[in-house]
Amino acid sequence: MQILIQKFGGTSVQSPENRDHVVAHIKKALVNDYKLIVVVSALGRKPDPYATDTLLDLVDYPANYNSKRELDLLLSCGEVISSIVLSNELQKNHIRATALTGAQAGFLTNDDFNKAKIKQVNPERILHEFKTHDVIVVAGFQGQTETGEITTIGRGGSDTTAAALGAALKVERIEIFTDVNGIMTADPSVVESARPLDVVTYTEICNLAYQGAKVIHPRAVEIAMQAEIPIRVRSTYLDDLGTLVTASRVDDIDVDISDRLVTGIAHMDKITQVKVSMNEEEHYLQSDIFKAMAEAGISVDFINISPSGVIYTIPTETTAKAINILETLGFKPEINENCAKVSAVGAGMTGVPGVASKIVQALTDKGIQILQSADSHTTIWVLIKEKDVKLAVNALHDAFALNKINEILV
Ligand code: ADP
Ligand code: ASP
Ligand code: MG
Repeated sequence: MQILIQKFGGTSVQSPENRDHVVAHIKKALVNDYKLIVVVSALGRKPDPYATDTLLDLVDYPANYNSKRELDLLLSCGEVISSIVLSNELQKNHIRATALTGAQAGFLTNDDFNKAKIKQVNPERILHEFKTHDVIVVAGFQGQTETGEITTIGRGGSDTTAAALGAALKVERIEIFTDVNGIMTADPSVVESARPLDVVTYTEICNLAYQGAKVIHPRAVEIAMQAEIPIRVRSTYLDDLGTLVTASRVDDIDVDISDRLVTGIAHMDKITQVKVSMNEEEHYLQSDIFKAMAEAGISVDFINISPSGVIYTIPTETTAKAINILETLGFKPEINENCAKVSAVGAGMTGVPGVASKIVQALTDKGIQILQSADSHTTIWVLIKEKDVKLAVNALHDAFALNKINEILV
């Protein structure tokens, strides 16, 4: 039995017209003799009635929500509804389909509600259902704990559901269908000239995704990479093959894509920069700050430590909590809200001189102030003001001629 996994995001299953495209992709795979696991996200986007953000509004999240456990119970319904709607449509098309919740599909998670970790996937029920069905529609983004509590696995988690099923069943390929034509050189809603990439490495897209390219969840990429399963990210509305995510050597086009200097530009907004100054002899207080942030569950990034103090960033929604903690510790933090992180990612930038200076030049030419910067082997990050994001991402996209990426590649 050949099993293929297809995952369809919220907009792909939003309306009957969009679902016609979904059904067409499923039919095509069935003709090729595959059994299919179809993972779905909740229907549409806010204000659609069953979209995840609409469900959050029902309980006035985040202002008035008390129980993380009940929030998960609520959110899981979005994907469950979607799985039933799609399996019903498949049945109307004379396809032997059935729907399963994440728990029924064998997802066991820990009890870290709202961002639970998948501990195990037991595909026994799915394999059993394949005796009488050709398509199993699985509600994405959820699982259950050992004690039967329903959990969700973090925003964008349906991609991870698909990858985890792929790894558990050792499938030949995972297909992620979405509203754009694959993984692109930048978010096409920000950069008009962004182009789809034919091939990217797991590492490149993982970095891009961690830096804000939400076209695929980074955890999904990590799982597929460990299991050595290729992913295709492609459009629900087109027949194009989209982007292949794979290891670095791509034999059929005989190109080592790890040579690519910059593959794409990602951005992430809603970031606050925090500066805490201290006397040099008080440097032992530095660890108190990060310990207190960790204890409060505030994730810190862009950390810069010097004898005169620390600078770091936090998600904007945690700003009030962080100020409170720092003031309680006796500090007077300097807070810079409405910041954004822009990242250039490329497996080939390691050791290549001039990449950082090109970034600085491109941004200063546009009059954009760099508040902070950092780099690793494959990524250079800059922190800027949120108002400059569009200009900055476009400037870097132009500076590295990413609108011509395929011509550079082949
Ligand atoms: P889905 O509901 O299908 O999971 P998402 O909204 O989570 O879809 O992800 C698709 C969106 O990701 C696109 O509409 C696009 O705006 C955004 N995006 C951000 N960065 C990129 C990128 N580098 N390539 C493609 N899309 C991107
Ligand atoms: N519906 C969930 C979300 O909006 C999961 C997903 O779409 O992958 O985050
Ligand atoms: Mg998504």
